[in-house]
Order: sequence, then C-alpha cells, then structure tokens
Amino acid sequence: MTPVRTRFAPSPTGYLHIGGARTALYCWLYAHKTQGKFILRIEDTDMERSTQESIQAILDAMDWLGLGYEEGPFYQTKRFARYAEVIEQLLHEGKAYRCYCSKERLEQLRIEQMAKKEKPRYDGHCRNATIVQTGTYVVRFNNPTQGIVEFDDLIRGRLVFANTELDDLIIARSDGTPTYNFCVVVDDWDMQITHVIRGDDHINNTPRQINILRALGANLPCYAHLPMILGSDGKRLSKRHGAVSVMQYRDEGYLPEALLNYLARLGWSHGDQEIFSLDELIQLFEIHDINRSAAAFNPEKLLWVNQHYLKTSDPEYIANILAWHMRQLGVDIRQGPSLTEIVLAQRERVKTLQEMAERSSYFYQDIEYTSEMGVHFTAELKPVLAKLYNKLEDLLDWTKESIHQAVASVAEESGLKLGKLAQPVRIAATGGTVSPPLDVTLFLLGRERTLNRLHRAIR
Ligand code: GLU
Repeated sequence: MTPVRTRFAPSPTGYLHIGGARTALYCWLYAHKTQGKFILRIEDTDMERSTQESIQAILDAMDWLGLGYEEGPFYQTKRFARYAEVIEQLLHEGKAYRCYCSKERLEQLRIEQMAKKEKPRYDGHCRNATIVQTGTYVVRFNNPTQGIVEFDDLIRGRLVFANTELDDLIIARSDGTPTYNFCVVVDDWDMQITHVIRGDDHINNTPRQINILRALGANLPCYAHLPMILGSDGKRLSKRHGAVSVMQYRDEGYLPEALLNYLARLGWSHGDQEIFSLDELIQLFEIHDINRSAAAFNPEKLLWVNQHYLKTSDPEYIANILAWHMRQLGVDIRQGPSLTEIVLAQRERVKTLQEMAERSSYFYQDIEYTSEMGVHFTAELKPVLAKLYNKLEDLLDWTKESIHQAVASVAEESGLKLGKLAQPVRIAATGGTVSPPLDVTLFLLGRERTLNRLHRAIR
C-alpha cells in the first residue's frame, strides 16, 4: 500500500483560524495514525492578499498547537518554474490551449448567456482555433466536454459532476502566472498527496482538479471534504462569535491540548467520549467517523475542556504557561510563592490561564485600597483584626493549619462566625472577595505581606 501523505495548505491571507486548525489537525491525525507523512504547504500565489505576517502567524499557530510537519513548509511562489513547465507540457500535448479572447468578447458572451438564462461560461471559442493569433493570451485547460466526473468523498460519499457544468479553466493568466486550482493540482501531484482533507468550500474545485490530474496522468488522491463550523446562531463561524484566531485562544489562556481536544470533537466523535489524549486521538481517529453535517462551535464547552486540562495536567507544566500570562499582565513573579502552588490553589476555580493570572496578581504585587474595601473594616471589626494581626505575628510556624487555627480562635473569642471574620480578612489580604480558601491564600501570601495588608486595613 502506498504510504499516506496528507497536506495542510493554508492561504496566508490572515491568521490561522479555528476552521483551519481543525483541518490541519485532521490531516495531522490521519498521517500519524497511518504512520504516513504530514506536509505543510503555503498557498501564497495570491500576491495581493498574502502577507509575510500571515505566514508567520500560521507557522506560530501550528507550532503552538504542536502540529509538526514532516515536510515543508513549501511555498507556491517558489514553484513558479515548475508550474510553467507543466503548463508548457499541457500546451504541447494539446491538453491546454491559448485563448486570445478579448475582455470585451468575454463580457459580450456573458451578457448574451445571462439573457438566455444560461450559466455564464467560456464557449470554447479558441479551443480549436486553426489560425495563428498574436497578442496577449491566457492559457485554458481543455476540459472534457462530455461525460461526468465522479469521486467517492470519504465523508460525503459518491459525488457526481457533469463536465458540461465545468468551464475551460484558465490555468495561466495573461502575465503568465499560474492560477490557484492549477497550482494545487501540480502540488498535490508532485508532493504525492494520497489524501486531500479540506473544507467543503473547495468541493466545486475538486472535479476541475480531478480533470487536470487525469490529463497529467497522475494518480488521484482520496478526497474528504469537511463540513463547515457554525456559530451558535447557525451562521458560518466568524469574528462576530468571538475569537476565531488560534493565537487569540492562547492569549485568552487556553491550553493547546484543550483546543486540540475540542477541535477534534468538533465534527468527529467516538461514542460519547469527550476527553482524548493526543495518543488516543491518533489511535481512534477515522475519517469516516467525521460528521456529515456542520458542527456548531460552543465556547462554553471549550471552557469546560480547558478547565479539565488545567485540573488534570502536571501543575509544573501549567505553571510554566502561567508564567507567560503573568508576564503579559506585567506581574513580576520573582517575589512571591511558587507558581506551581498557585496552580494547585487556583485551578479548581478558574477556566482559563488568563483568569488564573488575573486572579493571582495580588500574591506578587501590591493591591490597591479602595473606599469600597474600607466599608468592610468597620469600627467593631478593627480590634478583631488587630487581635488576629498579633496572633499571626506570633505564630511559630507559618502553615495552613496554624493560620486556620489562628483565624478560628480569634473568631471564636470575638463571638463571630468564622465567615464574618474570614471575608473581611480575605478582602484585606487580596483586595477582592474571591480567592482560594483563606488559610491557603494567607499561607501563599506569606507572613510579611499578610501582616502588612492587615495593618493597612486596620489603619
Ligand atoms: N488554500 C486553500 C485554503 O486556504 C486550501 C486549498 C486546499 O486545501 O486544497 O482554503
């Protein structure tokens, strides 16, 4: 059996978005599952819309997701000589022809066809021209005029197209540059791609590409066209629905494994299992298990998956990523508890690392005192806080247990319910009303910071 070769072929006209990442993941999974190869190809022939920035954004996102490629990145703009060679070959074999039709003629043709309620298409005027013409020309592919193109899509089943529906596609523009569909064909052929897995927005390109592949005598790859991803309102996923760029998810505090897990399940399933390690995905992934209908993007579920990974991954690993988020917030983490301890204290109560970072800055930097905080430190409470201050100052060991004991005994001595004391102390220590359990919070904060903050609250 020929070894499997899949490719991800983004056009660098923007960042890598969720849909592209899912396509890349499925290509990657299938290659890994079959011990084949995964190839990255940058389809940058649209010089006007392609940018170096987008290329970098795509490479960064692939890297962040951990979707490594065995070959590439290949750039179509570096392959123009090869495309020109194949165009020459097709011209030479009479499988393509020069078309000298003027813009005006084509426009006239279009108007006439529209008037007759026909689909506008090239009429083959130059196909069999016998007189030698001069002037500018494009090169058109000699598409079969009869018969059908059919293929078995691995997701959608058999698809059939009539050749009469397909135009004589322009494969080289008047300036000699090759066109999109043609480059894809030559690349898939040269790169010996066995499985083309891509979005179903390309489904109408497939019969055209198959005809050209046949004209070249190439083996046909298998095709799998992935259904779209929709927003919660049933419309195609776009910026309106929130983040669509993969790197934005990194910035918002998602883990790459969570995003991959979520994307794998978005349009593919294995029973009702939700959580998959990458190894499991490689083992279980099958193209024919991909859903035939569009999938709806569900941000809540992604949050849930993310929290699952926050809770179950190695805390040191999470701490490393948390360090990055802390730096993004401008928090200096050199003075304060170890980030691993922060992860252990916070991960049950947050869904993203950005949230974890925002809710942990008070462990490392001064908090702001606001008048709203002041209302919690009533005249009756201040002596109680002072008592607690003294108790904490005198503690022999600074441990969660001793801190808990101190708070509990001061509350009891003062005739207060534990919560009535704990909440103002939390506000004094953290500047907010939400934190890990008070003993854990104060323990991590350290004695000096705790006492300083209690002192300020009393003042
Ligand atoms: N470059 C195309 C895109 O970004 C993909 C083409 C393909 O996979 O055949 O949509």
